[in-house]
Amino acid sequence: MANITSILNQQYFSHADLIILLKTEGADQKQIFEKAAEIKKTEVGNKVYFRGLIEYSNICSKDCFYCGVRKSNSNIQRYQVNDEEVIQAAQFAYDQNFASIVIQSGERSDKTFVKKIENLIREIKKIGNGALGITLSCGEQSKETYKHWFDAGVHRYLLRIETSNEDLYQKIHPQNNKHNFNKRIQSLYHLKETGFQVGTGVMIGLPFQTLDDLANDLLFFKKLDIDMAGMGPYIEHKQTPLYQYSDTLLPLKERFQLSLKIVALLRILMKGINIAATTAMQTIDPEGREKALLTGANVIMPNLTPLKYREDYLLYEDKPCIDEEADACKNCLEARIHRTGNEIGYNEWGDSLHFKKKRVPIK
Ligand code: SAM
Ligand code: SF4
Repeated sequence: MANITSILNQQYFSHADLIILLKTEGADQKQIFEKAAEIKKTEVGNKVYFRGLIEYSNICSKDCFYCGVRKSNSNIQRYQVNDEEVIQAAQFAYDQNFASIVIQSGERSDKTFVKKIENLIREIKKIGNGALGITLSCGEQSKETYKHWFDAGVHRYLLRIETSNEDLYQKIHPQNNKHNFNKRIQSLYHLKETGFQVGTGVMIGLPFQTLDDLANDLLFFKKLDIDMAGMGPYIEHKQTPLYQYSDTLLPLKERFQLSLKIVALLRILMKGINIAATTAMQTIDPEGREKALLTGANVIMPNLTPLKYREDYLLYEDKPCIDEEADACKNCLEARIHRTGNEIGYNEWGDSLHFKKKRVPIK
């Protein structure tokens, strides 16, 4: 029987080590969570940073088999938040001292969209004289587009690889040039070269996914030397092709536990990165984000999307907070976070320490 304590004390982890750690349960699993909490405390501190989330548009040119807003889903009403509402949401984030926002959207690469995002970034940057840090999550774009957005003032970008296993990637996407594994990886490198703090992640508990895949995902993050991660359980959606495999999935509670374990292991592997406690974790367990904070996560993305759009941004079923503004209620969030022993990094961008360290010139 492998000794979990001695594996956890190693500096480097092999694929075989990760498989052992991923298979842990009970007291062994608890050891992983405790180690991750300890590393979080010493490496990034017990501070949680807010990124006010604006789900800008559900108009998407892609057809990912898992996603409720995929192009072919004709059951939803398509929307794009208007400029005034975006600025209002950003102003709200600023007024609440959140310090950062995330603009997430379906993927479009037409000129109108690219320009619209660039103009919005410039407007948001005027609030408080550049006080708000901006993260984008608008999918794969040309290197030129990434550069335009970077120059306009975005400094972080989230693009999940979804899975680092090319075969699995092909099973969960249509087979065409728009959904190409190598292009996705290339986009991640383009983002790095442009100068962004780069975040990626995977869905956990996908049909056909194995522990072997998840161990490789963790090693992929390390190899790519990411600055941020956003990961969460895969949650099925009836109006998507992957729904047909629902009866092959891990039960939701197990998917959630596995997601927590992956958050913890990533904190152990990549000590100074930022890790989000994602909405998908909260979907399965109302305390899901808080539990993720206790096992290594240090970023929360309160939803600031105007209420009238939220029911049309259902990536998966039972997404929380679609009919209440509670998520943006500072007092509720504060109380929930304080209960985890964390404090909130108000008025701080809370950039990835890992990214900052990479940029310190070596003497
Ligand atoms: N369109 C951009 C992209 O795909 O990178 C950004 C928005 S997309 C909705 C953000 C993330 O939602 C995806 O990277 C994917 O991991 C996640 N997502 C989509 N469908 C999901 C599902 N059924 N369960 C869990 N996460 C899902
Ligand atoms: Fe579009 Fe992103 Fe959903 Fe894929 S995951 S269908 S790119 S919104």
